[in-house]
Amino acid sequence: MAIAAESQAGEKPSSEVSAASDKQRRWNLSDFDIGKPLGRGKFGHVYLAREKKSNHIVALKVLFKTQLKQSQVEHQLRREVEIQSHLRHPNILRLYGYFYDQTRVYLILEYAAKGELYKELQKCKFFSEKRAATYISSLARALIYCHAKHVIHRDIKPENLLIGAQGELKIADFGWSVHTFNRRRTMCGTLDYLPPEMVESVEHDASVDIWSLGVLCYEFLYGVPPFEAKEHSDTYRRIIKVDLKFPSKPIVSSSAKDLISQMLVKESSQRLPLHKLLEHPWIVQNADPSGIYRG
Ligand code: AMP
Repeated sequence: MAIAAESQAGEKPSSEVSAASDKQRRWNLSDFDIGKPLGRGKFGHVYLAREKKSNHIVALKVLFKTQLKQSQVEHQLRREVEIQSHLRHPNILRLYGYFYDQTRVYLILEYAAKGELYKELQKCKFFSEKRAATYISSLARALIYCHAKHVIHRDIKPENLLIGAQGELKIADFGWSVHTFNRRRTMCGTLDYLPPEMVESVEHDASVDIWSLGVLCYEFLYGVPPFEAKEHSDTYRRIIKVDLKFPSKPIVSSSAKDLISQMLVKESSQRLPLHKLLEHPWIVQNADPSGIYRG
């Protein structure tokens, strides 16, 4: 077992990892058998784990409090836990609960057996239109669900997506998400995926996620994000101008380009609404309705 310390009581109940009878229970480390490391993040490690009572397989994310404090992300983590633990969607990674001890915070997460999408994209360089459309439509459905609950993700990008055992995509990181009824001004997320209104720090709303989904769709099909540049300042400039160019290689259908062009629109209110995206001919003709890419 890789984690040694005794953990103290956590706070949040989890309803599904264990039997319904212990709905109000507090988790601790002795509830889990710890397996192989799954990966390393900025603030700690992720392990495969099995909840002893139910035999349910989970991913246990172990975060070091000192590192969270140093980077001043405790508030962000609290928000992430609060938001992600309330979401229930096949394309959103479940957060079953959390607990902590003196030095660490533990997140009990759904296990995504096929790992990181980012690595798949690196391996393939770019995806087929069928694969890209299947992923984009399932993400659009997940975002429609989030937006209906007044949750804006604000950081959709390949690094934040995992693949489940069936090949289904899972939004995994809600570190920049907000629960909001208002328009926001905060600057967050990774530059390449930021829409013009966030680059310019003007008010933004749920349509920022439509922009990011457009960037993601482009990156799926071309292997690079659309506004990539050597210097940050050039990426800014290209985003603000919406300097969108479609290279001749790889060959991408005009229908896909049409969809991307309707999402990467500077005026946020003019971006293609997500429910309309699901009716777009490129999605209808290419996406597997099950949301599962079968290779
Ligand atoms: P993170 O700290 O979230 O960046 O996670 C570090 C690495 O652990 C990721 O890049 C994944 O390879 C792996 N990982 C994180 N969460 C999970 C999960 N729920 N299921 C499977 N692998 C995961």
